[in-house]
Amino acid sequence: AGPGPDRRVPAAVDAGSRSSAPSTGTETRPGGRRAARVLVVGSVNIDDAVRVPRFPGPGETLSARSADTALGGKGANQAVAAARAGADVRMVGAVGTRDGGAMLAALDADGIDTGGVARLDGTPSGRAFVFIDDAAENSIVVLPGANHAIPEAAVREACLALRPGDVVLLQNEIPAATSRLAAALAREAGAAVVWNAAPAPETAEELVPGHDLLLVNEHELMQVARLHGVTAAARSAAGTDALLHGVARATGADVICTLGAAGAAYRVGGETGLAPARRVEAVDTTAAGDTFAGYFAALAGLPLRERLRRALDAASLAVTRPGASPSIPAKAEVESLSA
Ligand code: ATP
Repeated sequence: AGPGPDRRVPAAVDAGSRSSAPSTGTETRPGGRRAARVLVVGSVNIDDAVRVPRFPGPGETLSARSADTALGGKGANQAVAAARAGADVRMVGAVGTRDGGAMLAALDADGIDTGGVARLDGTPSGRAFVFIDDAAENSIVVLPGANHAIPEAAVREACLALRPGDVVLLQNEIPAATSRLAAALAREAGAAVVWNAAPAPETAEELVPGHDLLLVNEHELMQVARLHGVTAAARSAAGTDALLHGVARATGADVICTLGAAGAAYRVGGETGLAPARRVEAVDTTAAGDTFAGYFAALAGLPLRERLRRALDAASLAVTRPGASPSIPAKAEVESLSA
């Protein structure tokens, strides 16, 4: 492995906050509650984050304000969030040999079991080129690389170890066939399947049937709804609500739609509502959705309202800091907000 990027990735991750005692192995916590077991099957990327005054137009060259390299990828971010929330986390994915060591080291540093992450010779690691403007909006281009070559055997092996009550967390940055396989094996094992349909699916082949809970933002909800033939009259709060209930009915699954600064609309276990987000000053929203997903998956043992509150608080804290995984808060910080 080359010395440059290999050293930079963990250094950037070190700059972030992390749980002081990452969980390894299922253990009984004070109060008698067992740590949730979360299996993430998903992407691992190197994020090159570039701060720009505004997004460049076609043919335009801009000077960046700054640039940073850190661990990213929706799968890795969600694994880190679940680990910082206190879960016992295992990851299945793939990285290239060039930068892979540093990416695995960054996951290891959070206590994540990376035994299921393959290192593939001759394949580039996944990479994301992230522009963040002065309004904290982002614009992202992703090179999938090794994320599109996750060995099926790694998925099968990890799913063999699943137990009823475990949570399997999936996103859309790996081939849909891999996610579908993981979902089917997870269901056979009695695990709960949480599908974060991000980036938004474009075709029906990119849907992951058999999920128990769908996590989406408003744009992803519209896409998933369209693919299920669910429509709403207007783009409005009422329209989002209609889509959310329509998708829940069409799939038989619970649905949570995050709404940025407005929080999240949900229909979970027959309960519906709107949970507000905390008011914060947004610096960089990268990984806000991932933080919500990882925390929500990890807090499966909590009552719904409490689970939503903590996942929303964790995500809102993440937007106050730059970067993907470095911005994800530790459990103690999230808990201190409601203390
Ligand atoms: P991203 O793609 O940027 O990671 P997303 O589009 O998947 O995010 P959002 O709905 O924008 O997801 O945000 C997820 C959660 O992050 C929200 O439910 C909220 O808790 C928090 N959040 C995002 N933006 C803000 C904000 N401006 N102020 C407070 N909280 C925010």
